[in-house]
Amino acid sequence: EAKKSGRHRYCWFHEALANATTERRNIELRIREALEADEFALHYQPVCDAESGRIIGAEALIRLKDRGGQAIPPALFIPIAEQGGLIEPIGEWVIHTGLKQLAHWREQGHTDLQLAINISGTQFASGRFVEHLESWIEESGVPGSALELELTEGVLMADVEKAQSILSRIGALGVRLAVDDFGTGYSSLAYLKHLPIHRLKIDRSFVDGLPSHPGDTAITRSILQLAKTFLLEVTAEGVETQDQLEFLRRAGCNAIQGFLQSQPRPAAEFSALLERRHLP
Ligand code: C2E
Ligand code: MG
Ligand code: MG
Ligand code: MG
Repeated sequence: EAKKSGRHRYCWFHEALANATTERRNIELRIREALEADEFALHYQPVCDAESGRIIGAEALIRLKDRGGQAIPPALFIPIAEQGGLIEPIGEWVIHTGLKQLAHWREQGHTDLQLAINISGTQFASGRFVEHLESWIEESGVPGSALELELTEGVLMADVEKAQSILSRIGALGVRLAVDDFGTGYSSLAYLKHLPIHRLKIDRSFVDGLPSHPGDTAITRSILQLAKTFLLEVTAEGVETQDQLEFLRRAGCNAIQGFLQSQPRPAAEFSALLERRHLP
């Protein structure tokens, strides 16, 4: 009986693994296809001043659909792209497209808009990243200071010395740096002392429990205190309710990003939001 169920389990496991492998392969194929046919899209989510609701920035978030038109979440396909050696062309497309859009918004008068772009570990560590970044910025004509790169703690901690040298070269371009998903990666905070960082992004998992969960309120307050000490700005991610917004405002958080204000939207829809300038 035990043998039977063991074998059954083995079969089930084997099948699940095979399916996972097939899915990965399909996604990788879809990524290659989308790169060739220029079928990726960028959506933009507003980042708002916590006090006034004014739109101060946008985070660019990549979008990809499968052949049936279903969205493939970036959390699923980005790691596959990294492992398949495809993250560099994707990253290049994202920065290129984002900067072109930012230049367009600036021409329309939105010159203080900050654009945030996510950078994956492999992309960050690839030898030519800073060099490429410099030429893309130059080509776009926007000042480096209008661009903010989002990196996770894991990426920064993988090799602190290397990160330090890359970050200082990025800093020399005027580009700003944000730690994404702050608080979910490593317990060591020592890197904050050594790295030229401008902003912490409080992870959605902590914002979720505001204002009532004691653990989440304590963690959020600690992050805000830490940011104050290190003179960093803070964005809270994943703000969905008015109560969360009120808590964050009162706790001294500068910037808010979440579905309460807006989902990530295509550029044209983001432009319409920009004309209103303020969100609730
Ligand atoms: P992230 O950088 O932490 O981005 C925030 C994610 O939270 C986005 O998911 C966004 O749609 C979602 N979000 C924002 N507000 C809310 C909210 O109020 N409630 C909820 N439930 N979710 C909210 P998305 O677009 O699926 O992206 C997931 C992750 O994929 C990103 O996390 C980022 O790590 C990665 N990613 C997205 N675009 C890119 C890209 O262009 N390059 C790279 N390397 N990674 C990317
Ligand atoms: Mg991000
Ligand atoms: Mg995040
Ligand atoms: Mg995230």
